[in-house]
Amino acid sequence: MIDTHAHLTSEALLPHLHGILERAKASGIKRIVNICTDEKSLIEGLDLAKKDPIVSNAAATTPHDVDKEGESFFPYVEKCASEGRLVAIGETGLDYFYSYSKKETQQIFLLRYFALAKKMQLPLIFHCREAFSDLFSHADREYVGKPAVLHCFTGSLEEARGVLDRGWYLSLSGIVTFKKSAELRKVAEYVPLDRLLIETDAPYLAPEKHRGRQNEPSYLVETAELIAKLKGISVEELAKQTAENALHFFQFQV
Ligand SMILES: [Zn+2]
Repeated sequence: MIDTHAHLTSEALLPHLHGILERAKASGIKRIVNICTDEKSLIEGLDLAKKDPIVSNAAATTPHDVDKEGESFFPYVEKCASEGRLVAIGETGLDYFYSYSKKETQQIFLLRYFALAKKMQLPLIFHCREAFSDLFSHADREYVGKPAVLHCFTGSLEEARGVLDRGWYLSLSGIVTFKKSAELRKVAEYVPLDRLLIETDAPYLAPEKHRGRQNEPSYLVETAELIAKLKGISVEELAKQTAENALHFFQFQV
């Protein structure tokens, strides 16, 4: 299984990494894409990837933080991408639910990350909340036919269709296990197996059984089991197919 989205080198997880990585391996996690959202987490992430090949890095400023540090972090992301040290650019995107940063700034950085991903020939990881129509319209102008994943998808069936129509992958997190997530479970049933990725988004969003605790990659198993059940397949089959999708999407060197 591959955890395609975890913030391993965030302040919350960094002090506990040794145990986290051991438990991940013991649970059958073969790869973790570490999402770095600022300079500190990226420096730590690059160091970690050198020590432990289970870890690969992606980086960008989140839509929440672009007002604060979009400008300062961008050149470092660009440098690391050009040195071949990232497997993807992200998470970038739009979040109009929280709107921690101004909409205009979020869009400016989204466009800059489109350009960077194209230049570096890397896939994009999108975060999108209550902003699908803007994300789709910007992408339809500036990021046509290029690889992307909509991470931690929580949108409607209609929005899922929009993601798949653009040729992107859709990634599900532990949210799909929450009692209230009936609509998301419909999305899980709907997404074709060859377009699905799975993730924890650790340290956030621990699946139902671990709800309220700090999330970590080993908990991916619970999410995988539930999606497999919804799709009427074995967890092994789900793990195998989603891992193949991730290998293809991130172009991991095996
Ligand atoms: Zn994230």
